[in-house]
Amino acid sequence: MTTTKNPLSGGQFLFTDSQAADIFTREDISEEQRMFARVAEEFMRKEVLPREEQIYSKDWSVTRELLLKAGELDLLRVDIPEEYGGLSLDKISSALIGEAIALMPSFGASLGAHTTIGTLPIVFFGTPAQRAKYLPKLASGELIAAYCLTEPGSGSDAMAAKTKAILSADGKHYVLNGQKMWITNGGFADVFIIFAKVDGDKFTAFIVERDHGVVSGHEEKKLGLDGSSTTALMLEDCRVPVENVLGEIGKGHVVAFNVLNLGRLKLGTRNLGSAKLALNNAISYSKERHQFGKAIGEFGLIKRKLAEMAIRCFVGDAMVWRTLGMIDGALEQVDQSQPMQVLKAIEQYAVECSIIKVWTSEALGYVVDETVQVYGGYGYSKDYPAERAYRDARITRLYEGTNEINRTIIATRLLKAAASGGLPLRARVEYLKEWPYYYDRRETEYSQKACNLVRGMAVLSLDAIQQAYGDQTSPEQEVLALAAEMVMEAYAIESVLLRMQKISPANRVIEAMARTYACAAAHRTELNSQYLVEVLKTVMDTKDLEDHFSEYIVYDFINPVLEHRTIADALRESGRYLW
Ligand SMILES: Cc1cc2nc3c(=O)[nH]c(=O)nc-3n(C[C@H](O)[C@H](O)[C@H](O)COP(=O)(O)OP(=O)(O)OC[C@H]3O[C@@H](n4cnc5c(N)ncnc54)[C@H](O)[C@@H]3O)c2cc1C
Repeated sequence: MTTTKNPLSGGQFLFTDSQAADIFTREDISEEQRMFARVAEEFMRKEVLPREEQIYSKDWSVTRELLLKAGELDLLRVDIPEEYGGLSLDKISSALIGEAIALMPSFGASLGAHTTIGTLPIVFFGTPAQRAKYLPKLASGELIAAYCLTEPGSGSDAMAAKTKAILSADGKHYVLNGQKMWITNGGFADVFIIFAKVDGDKFTAFIVERDHGVVSGHEEKKLGLDGSSTTALMLEDCRVPVENVLGEIGKGHVVAFNVLNLGRLKLGTRNLGSAKLALNNAISYSKERHQFGKAIGEFGLIKRKLAEMAIRCFVGDAMVWRTLGMIDGALEQVDQSQPMQVLKAIEQYAVECSIIKVWTSEALGYVVDETVQVYGGYGYSKDYPAERAYRDARITRLYEGTNEINRTIIATRLLKAAASGGLPLRARVEYLKEWPYYYDRRETEYSQKACNLVRGMAVLSLDAIQQAYGDQTSPEQEVLALAAEMVMEAYAIESVLLRMQKISPANRVIEAMARTYACAAAHRTELNSQYLVEVLKTVMDTKDLEDHFSEYIVYDFINPVLEHRTIADALRESGRYLW
């Protein structure tokens, strides 16, 4: 299958038991879709990597030249409608490109910012005239785009932007004044999606050309992504024609936040691409480096590291491709020539997109950190790849909405959807009361039991939070984060088990990855549920909740040495991560 038929609607994964055949996994990617991955990977290896020195020295003429080449290879036009010079392809194809460009995260950031947050606002919200004017040139790489939301005084609180737009006396232009901060491609982009407040209060998106009066600040000196351009932008009496208002005046937030959903999802494939690259480097190094008379990869503690890194790659992949399959499946059911229908289809998966963003960026952080450790002192050296990967990865927990903001989005969105009847939270709790987890414990296989436990606890926790705070009061952020943690584990554990079931014949290594993750996730969730009870005690009677949770105690453990070694030995034998 190339997409998910009859996909679950957004957030529904907590309340519906899916079967392996219902979800999309990496194994379902079609030959045609793989072709894009191959073209992108070849482009990165043959064209981009050989020029890394120039890219890291911030020679943006090289980056521009390479982006133009990427355009010739169709790598920039996947998400753009055919009538505007694009290919109107599925999100899976576009995510495969994202995974390949992770071979150099700096260049990946330039290309990703251009094709996703830079171009998609015009794809979704542009008038026919705006789309005709800009999209063909953005598709070819002749024009490069940037997305400009953040300001010196407003990052997470994007709506507090101070940049102002005032209509000129002749009514032909908006005059923009203000400053943007941390803009990817800021040093060389031609087209900027800039958010400003009309008359100081109506938050609005504009398509702004450099010639309208955009001035770039100096290149920021960053921790990582040395080969990507990040600058402030100064807007001093920047004159933007009125026809360049993007979307409706006062509705800039609709543009800003909807585009971020896809940005978060695609960041997920880039994160996993980077994680697999780091893991493969760690595997190779662990075979080459000898200490105490043998390769360090033969030591149990190095095996444990490689295994845990592989588990994160495998679980992350299960979540990301499942989500992409659902989104492509939902898109197949709408009229894709209608941008608003497309947006709505994607927006319903905002929770899943935030989960992917948080989970994969933290998994990547873990993997690059452990890669440095496998390299030992050489991990700290700029002459080896672990150091740059470590620095480059850090940003992914910060941009596209910090992980704190995304955690609150996950819980808040689910609670709101449940309160409005959009998700069957109460009905699921009633079902769980009728069929408590206790039955599962006797009947089902180990990791499936863990999965039922985590999903059940996540649902009970959301319900308890809703009971405790009602519709009026907002729960404390720490409470939302506990719920978000459980929800993420629920999505992760179910996705990995379904992927495992789908891969046939049964594979002992895959089973080891799924079982190890399931065990740890169940115990983490149990701990989080106990913390939640302690917090909720301060606002409600938790006796029922405690009784219910008491049915959800994890008695089983896996043998971690056995499972880790099974995984690590397979990695060592193949010399790389295979799945
Ligand atoms: C390399 C790089 C590239 C970037 N590219 C772009 C780009 O192309 N376009 C663009 O518009 N922006 C871009 N950004 C900006 C990025 O999106 C912001 O840095 C990010 O959104 C966080 O905003 P901030 O830095 O102002 O941090 P703040 O919002 O000040 O946050 C500081 C800390 O407080 C926490 N915090 C803030 N509010 C809350 C809250 N309500 N609850 C709990 N915790 C909270 C945050 O999670 C964070 O830990 C980029 C940044 C970098 C570093």
